[in-house]
Amino acid sequence: MARYINAVCRLCRREGEKLFLKGPKCNTPKCTFAKRSFAPGQHGQKGKPKLSNYGSQLREKQKVKRTYGVLERQFRRYFKIASKTKGVTGRVLLQLLERRLDNVIFRLGFAASRPQGRQLVRHNFIYVNSRRVNIPSFLVKKEDLIQVATKERCQKKVKENIEFSKDRTVPSWLEIDAQGLKAKITRLPEKEDIPATIQEQLIVELYSK
Ligand code: SF4
Repeated sequence: MARYINAVCRLCRREGEKLFLKGPKCNTPKCTFAKRSFAPGQHGQKGKPKLSNYGSQLREKQKVKRTYGVLERQFRRYFKIASKTKGVTGRVLLQLLERRLDNVIFRLGFAASRPQGRQLVRHNFIYVNSRRVNIPSFLVKKEDLIQVATKERCQKKVKENIEFSKDRTVPSWLEIDAQGLKAKITRLPEKEDIPATIQEQLIVELYSK
């Protein structure tokens, strides 16, 4: 399973907004974007170039991919599934991304960031319907039960993360039992449940060319 392994703060700088990829550091003055909000690279300080239609579509797609930690091939696969599914393609695409297990762990506050959510899943911290699941792209469905492994180190880490994320609101499609370190998927996520400012129609236009 390929993943992006280079410096992540430059991704926020490239997209011109905070993507919250580093957990605790993101909300402090140490945030690289807070200190250097221009694009990375030699020409970054020249200011934002005026984007063409294609440019805006491309940037929106890159922003979403980077927010959810998905690479191009997998993202295209999600788009293909979304375009074949009944409903509005852009919304179904966002729904698929939100249903990823690493994202759900982040949304619940069990992880401080999506990359950490991915790591917890890979390191066997998470059970879905009483079965261990270590695939970050696993798609949760309605009525699924998410639990943290009973090992002390797993519980300790997740409790620390919940404490750290206590100011973040858990979306209403997830029902969390913070004491019991478990949660239930009460329904599938809708666009209104996604706090990020995403213009999904730009991605649909890009891939529909
Ligand atoms: Fe982005 Fe977080 Fe790095 Fe700030 S600290 S630039 S929000 S990844």
